[in-house]
Amino acid sequence: MPHNAVMDSRQGLVKVFAAGARALARGGTFVLDQLYPPTCLACHQPVTQAHTLCGACFAQLRHISAPYCPILGIPFGVALGPGALSAEALADPPPFERARAAVAYNDAARRIVSLLKYGDHPELARFCARLMAPAGRDLWTDRPVLVPVPLHFTRRIERRYNQSAELAHALAKILDLPCDPGLVRRSRRTRQQVGLTGDQRRRNVSGAFTAHPDLVARLRGRRVVLVDDVLTTGSTVVAITHALKRAGVHQIDVMTFARVVIGLDLPI
Ligand SMILES: [Zn+2]
Repeated sequence: MPHNAVMDSRQGLVKVFAAGARALARGGTFVLDQLYPPTCLACHQPVTQAHTLCGACFAQLRHISAPYCPILGIPFGVALGPGALSAEALADPPPFERARAAVAYNDAARRIVSLLKYGDHPELARFCARLMAPAGRDLWTDRPVLVPVPLHFTRRIERRYNQSAELAHALAKILDLPCDPGLVRRSRRTRQQVGLTGDQRRRNVSGAFTAHPDLVARLRGRRVVLVDDVLTTGSTVVAITHALKRAGVHQIDVMTFARVVIGLDLPI
């Protein structure tokens, strides 16, 4: 058999195997769907498509879209004209450049975030990342490095995984961006921010983060986008931004799944 014919028959076999594997995978999904019909990620009602929310839960999410504050990403009720900033950004300018979030933090978002944090549902991270990718489109233009807000290693052992890292990895996969969870470390175990006032939150996380000694070399001039589940007062991402700036990084943005919007505040 001439060499080309051997190659053709090999490629043919590979194609047959690949088609067979795809058919098996489809069949596998079909069988799994029969055994475990897909359910809503938030309320567990049956749904037609896996890894998503039912119509009722999805309708409760309040997606953030323009017009919003160009710095903090806080949605404006009405368009205030180009360059108009939110009162929050004017009163207390953050050290990072921009923050964006996919949804406002309400009951539906809280359910998703708490499932993501404590429920061990990696498919939820993919769902959230699918909403975060378009909501953060301003931030992806020059191929930044995604850096999840780190957990202290003792807390990661307790929780088994870091929900921010799950979000950052899922987002990196969708956007084909680098993700480097090792760039910042939580060097001090902090109290959970839940129930603390703004001032207490700031003190709680101040100086708690350390940038990797090779940070600047690892970034090679690229900007950083910090990734977290919820932006509340912003004290955690502010503390990390300070640590990054001390280490020589100056372009830092923040991307979260949800953000607290005044008027929709919930105790967390
Ligand atoms: Zn639902």
